[in-house]
Amino acid sequence: MENLRQILAKYNLSLKKAFGQNFLSDQALLSEIVEKAQVSSDDIVLEIGCGAGALTRELARTAKKVVGYEIDTRLKPILHDMLEDFNNVEIVFSDVMKVSLEEIEKKLGGEYILVANLPYYITTPIIMRFLENAKNIKGMVIMVQEEVAYRLASKNSTSDYGAITVGINLRGSAEVIINVGREKFTPPPNVDSAVVKITIDKDKFGGVDLAKVRDVVRVAFSSRRKMLVNNLMNGYKIPRVKAENILTSAGIELTVRAENLTAEQFVELSKVIDKKD
Ligand code: SAM
Repeated sequence: MENLRQILAKYNLSLKKAFGQNFLSDQALLSEIVEKAQVSSDDIVLEIGCGAGALTRELARTAKKVVGYEIDTRLKPILHDMLEDFNNVEIVFSDVMKVSLEEIEKKLGGEYILVANLPYYITTPIIMRFLENAKNIKGMVIMVQEEVAYRLASKNSTSDYGAITVGINLRGSAEVIINVGREKFTPPPNVDSAVVKITIDKDKFGGVDLAKVRDVVRVAFSSRRKMLVNNLMNGYKIPRVKAENILTSAGIELTVRAENLTAEQFVELSKVIDKKD
């Protein structure tokens, strides 16, 4: 394969910062991502942001089917050339944020793994959208800024832990699987990155209304430095005694902050709040 710089020069393509276009070309890293993502020949893969197709091609070699979304139509000829040997890939040239999840999942046609080297400005919206609303997702393997990676995979009672971490733990778990230095990208961004693997466990909290739990999580983290009891009082417009009762009934100490609670405790809290309505 010609190297990435040669390909970009051949097509006279200048990369757009606004689309977060920092491309990968390190073959060993691309193989490692697909291997650690445990993509097999039975898997359907959704790739968001195909770029020049280096990761797409690696995925197509391994998976049964790949559906990719790419916002920048200037990449059409490059992706066409990069993927011409494969008949199991379909690229849709659209802003993935403007396509409904229903349509995306229909195109995928079954359970799938989301793989993406995401533009940083849509990292959180994409992760939240798929965590909260996707029906057939088995897992996500996503390249994000290193500090975001550690936030996603953090444990409760650490400074990295936040609403998005709880959101992940309500549906599964996350681990950082590869650290990727900025020099691995063309052009190099200003920060280092890491690949996070999110495993979805469909039976985790089966029967629980997760939308309600997420509401509680939002209220709990509304003012991170405040104690949870204060955020409950403000969020639900209830007196202190009622907020303290809720915490006691859920088996939670009165002095905690939201960052101390596990996903299991948020589920308990939500059940108690529900009863008290
Ligand atoms: N996957 C390629 C790689 O690893 O080299 C490219 C990764 S680059 C960080 C992100 C890609 O996402 C860019 O090609 C960019 O054009 C595309 N992109 C940005 N916003 C998008 C959106 N809303 N929908 C679909 N693709 C998007």
